[in-house]
Amino acid sequence: VISDILVVGGGVIGKSIALGLADAGCTVVCVGTSPALPGTASTAAGAMLGVLGEVTADAGSELDGAELRFRFDSARRYPAFLDRIAQLSGSPVALTYGTLVVATGANTDDVVNLRAVEQAARSLGLRHERTVAGPKVGLRPAIGHEPVDALFLPEEGFLDTGRLMDALNLALDKAPGVTLVDAEVVAVLTDGSSATGVRLIDGTELTAGQVVLANGVGVQPLLDRLGPVVGRLPKLLPGKGVSLLVAGVSDPFPYVVRTPNRDFACGSHIVPRADGQLYVGATNRVSATPGSAEGVTPGEVHSLLHSVIHEVNVGLRTASLVSTRYGLRPMSSDRYPVIGRTALDNLSVATGTYRNGILMAPLVADIITEQLTATDPVLVNPFAPQAGFRVTPSARPTEDVLDEGLRHLVSFLLEPGGSMPYDRRRELLTFLSQLSRLAFLDSPDTVAKRTEIRQMLTDYPVAEMIPQLFYALSTPADS
Ligand SMILES: Cc1cc2nc3c(=O)[nH]c(=O)nc-3n(C[C@H](O)[C@H](O)[C@H](O)COP(=O)(O)OP(=O)(O)OC[C@H]3O[C@@H](n4cnc5c(N)ncnc54)[C@H](O)[C@@H]3O)c2cc1C
Repeated sequence: VISDILVVGGGVIGKSIALGLADAGCTVVCVGTSPALPGTASTAAGAMLGVLGEVTADAGSELDGAELRFRFDSARRYPAFLDRIAQLSGSPVALTYGTLVVATGANTDDVVNLRAVEQAARSLGLRHERTVAGPKVGLRPAIGHEPVDALFLPEEGFLDTGRLMDALNLALDKAPGVTLVDAEVVAVLTDGSSATGVRLIDGTELTAGQVVLANGVGVQPLLDRLGPVVGRLPKLLPGKGVSLLVAGVSDPFPYVVRTPNRDFACGSHIVPRADGQLYVGATNRVSATPGSAEGVTPGEVHSLLHSVIHEVNVGLRTASLVSTRYGLRPMSSDRYPVIGRTALDNLSVATGTYRNGILMAPLVADIITEQLTATDPVLVNPFAPQAGFRVTPSARPTEDVLDEGLRHLVSFLLEPGGSMPYDRRRELLTFLSQLSRLAFLDSPDTVAKRTEIRQMLTDYPVAEMIPQLFYALSTPADS
């Protein structure tokens, strides 16, 4: 098979790109294994189109600002994107608006992140309302878990991803110039200096003028096989997410109800579906974390349900569990998307969409389409794979990474339940933060402190010294 452009990927990113390219007049072969395969991120997502709901207080860098703007721009493209899919497929996908973000008292980051969401809404000129909401928006938390604050975002959209993927498949079946191939790609073919096609698992070779890798976490093994010719790209890791569907909750859910992002994940959230079922998401465990086995674990389901039953609606406890699923989010090593041409001629990548790929799909597709078809691309792409700053190890101070990671870790360790007595959450966090600096940073202060602690443990080789150490390190230096 010879095509203008070969797109690898059967999820929302690959298929949106295939549609964009077909509409630009290209002949496209889109090769991907079925999105129904376990592990596909696009079919495990809800999905929220979280422009604002995904904002957190620690995302303050220039690139974080660019990502917020990217999400906003992609959300604005959604109505036209869905119209085009409906036109081809005859299968309209409803886009509904309204998200209530609730902050609980147990998770101290919630309120801080809610303020960051409010600030982002102001900066983008999006409507937002502080509100005390009740059962009419699905909120009926357990006693002691009531929100301490909440923000209603009337312009934040959501949709049913199952319907989106079905409609996208139908649309591509009808789109002129598109061939869908259900197969696994094992290698990208090159002539030494440029990509020329792909090899499938059965040995078939498909050739094309351009190859786009948009197959989620499957991009990394294909890049690894190509080696250094692709340039220095951020590495991809799988961020495994579990979600589930429930039916039979009596309170109406006209909107999404969610917490702010927490525990490395996109918060606990409920996305209502037209058939009355509720989508509940989502966990996030980056690969190699214990419990991130293939498939859904009881621990993941427990932590998801514990959170939504207590913090959102106690009625979920007696609802019927319809199904569970998991997907592997493509997360890049700096957490930003990776979109555009690689150093190997005629090879582009479009991935790294992590927690927001459903939302980002229309803009990712437009950027790739424009890059491959327009003589003078005008769309801003902050996530070009070759941008030097992305691969500089010192791009972000290690202290920042440790602090952000530990805040999420402590929150994650306290799930389900979320609380510790007294002031121990803060003490534990400070202790771990100080300890990690001693372990991973070599400054005159940390070297001196390590020597002091070793001496203490040599002078008093008894377990009772550990609480001493805890209190010595959990008292912030400036207090
Ligand atoms: C539980 C969960 C909840 C989420 N919630 C949201 C949300 O609310 N909003 C939002 O915007 N985003 C959300 N996301 C993120 C979003 O789902 C992803 O960013 C997005 O789906 C990534 O799409 P993709 O097409 O790159 O990857 P995938 O959907 O994983 O698709 C990759 C496809 O490529 C195929 N493939 C892989 N390797 C090969 C190969 N070698 N050959 C052929 N085919 C191959 C796979 O089988 C698969 O079909 C969520 C993700 C998860 C897991």
